[in-house]
Amino acid sequence: MKKPSAELEVESAKDELEQFLEQPKESAGYSCPRCGNNYSRSHSLNRHMKFECGVEPQFECPICHKKSKHKHNLVLHMRTHQKS
Ligand SMILES: [Zn+2]
Ligand SMILES: [Zn+2]
Repeated sequence: MKKPSAELEVESAKDELEQFLEQPKESAGYSCPRCGNNYSRSHSLNRHMKFECGVEPQFECPICHKKSKHKHNLVLHMRTHQKS
């Protein structure tokens, strides 16, 4: 036995969920006032502003003097020197 009224309730609940999912998520993010980069967490934005945005690269390759903002990037770069 079917209950039409109950089915109607399920359908309308689905519609509400779809409307919720379609809303843009950018509005809930944090954007950098300097470069406009968007971050979903304030923690990420703080890290970006402190270590990335407008910050000079702190790590330098001793072989070719290429500079990098992140140590792990420089470590990856140094491997290219070890290949030959
Ligand atoms: Zn920035
Ligand atoms: Zn290098």
